Amino acid sequence: MNETMRDYFIYLFDKELNKYAVEIEMFVEPEEINIDSLNVNNWYKEVIVDHINRRKISKQKIKILMRGLRNSIKEHKFNYYQRGISLISDYDYDLLEKLLINLEELFGEIIPTSITRSVGSRHKSSGFKNIQSSYELFETITHEHRMYSLENSYSKEDLEDWEKRIQRNLGDVPVEFTCELKYDGASISLIYVNGKLLNAVTRGDGIQGDVVTPNIKTIKSVPAQLKGDYPIQLDIRGEIIFPLEEFAKMNQERIEAGEDPYMNPRNTASGSLKLKDSSEVAKRPLECLVYGMAGNLEIKTQFEFLEKARSWGFKVPTVAKLCKSTEEVMQFVDYWDSHRHSMPFETDGVVVKVNSIQQQEELGYTAKSPRWAMAYKFQAEQATTILDKITYQVGRTGAITPVANLEPVLLAGTTVKRASLHNADQIAKLDVREGDTVFVEKGGEIIPKIVGVDFTKRPADSKPTEYITHCPECGTELIRKEGEAQHFCPNDTGCPTQITGRIQHFISRKAMDIEGMGSETVELLFKEGLIANYADLYTLTKEQVVPLERMAEKSAENLVNGVAASKAIPFERVLFALGIRYVGETVAKKLAKAYKNIDALMAASKEELVTVDEIGDRIAESVISFFSEPTNLEIVNRLKSYGLQFSLSEAQLENQTDKLKGQTFVVSGVFETLSRDELKKLIEDNGGKVASSISSKTSFVVAGDNMGPSKKTKAESLGVPIISEQEFLQKLEA
Ligand code: AMP
Ligand code: ZN
Repeated sequence: MNETMRDYFIYLFDKELNKYAVEIEMFVEPEEINIDSLNVNNWYKEVIVDHINRRKISKQKIKILMRGLRNSIKEHKFNYYQRGISLISDYDYDLLEKLLINLEELFGEIIPTSITRSVGSRHKSSGFKNIQSSYELFETITHEHRMYSLENSYSKEDLEDWEKRIQRNLGDVPVEFTCELKYDGASISLIYVNGKLLNAVTRGDGIQGDVVTPNIKTIKSVPAQLKGDYPIQLDIRGEIIFPLEEFAKMNQERIEAGEDPYMNPRNTASGSLKLKDSSEVAKRPLECLVYGMAGNLEIKTQFEFLEKARSWGFKVPTVAKLCKSTEEVMQFVDYWDSHRHSMPFETDGVVVKVNSIQQQEELGYTAKSPRWAMAYKFQAEQATTILDKITYQVGRTGAITPVANLEPVLLAGTTVKRASLHNADQIAKLDVREGDTVFVEKGGEIIPKIVGVDFTKRPADSKPTEYITHCPECGTELIRKEGEAQHFCPNDTGCPTQITGRIQHFISRKAMDIEGMGSETVELLFKEGLIANYADLYTLTKEQVVPLERMAEKSAENLVNGVAASKAIPFERVLFALGIRYVGETVAKKLAKAYKNIDALMAASKEELVTVDEIGDRIAESVISFFSEPTNLEIVNRLKSYGLQFSLSEAQLENQTDKLKGQTFVVSGVFETLSRDELKKLIEDNGGKVASSISSKTSFVVAGDNMGPSKKTKAESLGVPIISEQEFLQKLEA
């Protein structure tokens, strides 16, 4: 068994669980599974049991899962043999079978079954090729109530026409409207039964969408349990958005970690819903803004719905307004057209809805959208100006970013002089050239972007943009790795901008936070030949600095003192400051905690690194490659000799030892003085490892009351010593 296969098996297990196991626990009290009584005799079972233990999966869920698996395996077999089609890769099919067989072996006695063991392989060979594509697949289901889009209007006349049409349709009765902002994100349908979130489904094509419940459950503004007088069944409609400030912050962190920033909040929000790993989604500060519902409810008006939804615990923006006349609707539109940037999220228009649900029903739907609602789209804030010159920036990781230098133009209240052109593909796609008249747009607070070229104004002598082939800073030929959008300057040790970029990162606030020093000082010191890397900062003397341009006695002193003071900065920040690609603030913390000092980290293999929580292949490879570079090793050694913190401090290490290093424990049963979790923490804090099932690699089984008989037999047969809680604690004292 290899790591990928194991991961994939867990992934499949999870996916299947999510498919079948949602509905039960709202009706019955979940029954826990006694892990210790299970007979684990292969790695599939090990993975299953470990996962059940971690996720506290109930007996009921397993039961439903087994039933579901049997049905779908039956169906796959039928499709394959009778209809000659296959909706699943051979590899996936194999694993599904393995999952079912092992579940049955594990739970055969506990959960009685009536099925035949007729599963048997559907084919001979199993390919490993299909894994990648399967990762992204979500279960697709049909919406009980269709998810419509909205008709768009771009002018007030359009909007007024629509209102007249509505009035004609409904006859001579008063019509009121609810106005809301149009939130720019990804739409979602949230199915609640008995106040509990059952399913979350993307819009998809409006008829069918993808089930993304585990991802949605990580969003704080999606209540898991409703409050107040909610209906038994509820199909809530909302928009998943990425708030602007958090978006900017995340991009800042990505840039600091040497990663490409994301393009815009909307795509990032909808992309997040399709991530296979919910813990990744949990890290993103997504929000759900609720605007509607489907199905018949007691509720009489849209405005009342918004208030109700709020009382059930949903997040409903309060800017919504009940308008009694078309004039009021226009006022709302006008106001928000000029105030849209004051919201903490992106909005691209206003949605006007007929307020009375009864009138809505009378008006009905077209094939695509409700007749009772209309979106008024704001004009994108755009300006035209001339692109003087395309220049290229080199980042500290060597990534090249093309920049459009513009004739200054006023846009959404600020003067814009520069706009990002992202990469070579973007330039080619827009066919943008120096001397062109270009359209510049600004979406919310994000960096302005070039969205097009006014070809009618293109000068006759214009020439296509030729992307640079060599680094503008050091002249090295650029490379572009397969699958990457960005060009890179590979000369990381000699390219001046990369060198100063790394030093600037090193001294920055979240890293070494060196007082008395800024980006310009770094450039100056580098230009004067006083520093060539960040280790050189620590040998700078006041005498060397004073003669420099704009340096007074006092500022030179501050600088040298600031450098000296940074020696007290804790290990995890030093690690972040080193500027290892993909090692941002959070990753640095994780690594520091896991390895406790730089020597242990440097000695770690890729296989070991990826066992650390949240460290994947990409980060592991980057760490290894950083420490295999002789120049980096030399710099780290120098920094060590200057007294920087390269291990966790006493306080951080308090209660942490290496006493149990190299030992693997299995914890089983109920304990007297400690909870299971406390016991596990003690093991980990002292350098030991906790495993969920006994194998020949287990050093000790710590047994409490009610240790499962099968575990006991297993431990005995493998000769693994069984120790009590007291004996374990004595081991630690020793
Ligand atoms: P469109 O995607 O342009 O057809 O617009 C329809 C989408 O706008 C819906 O599917 C919703 O996800 C989204 N939307 C955003 N805000 C609102 C709102 N206040 N009311 C209704 N729909 C909204
Ligand atoms: Zn270069």
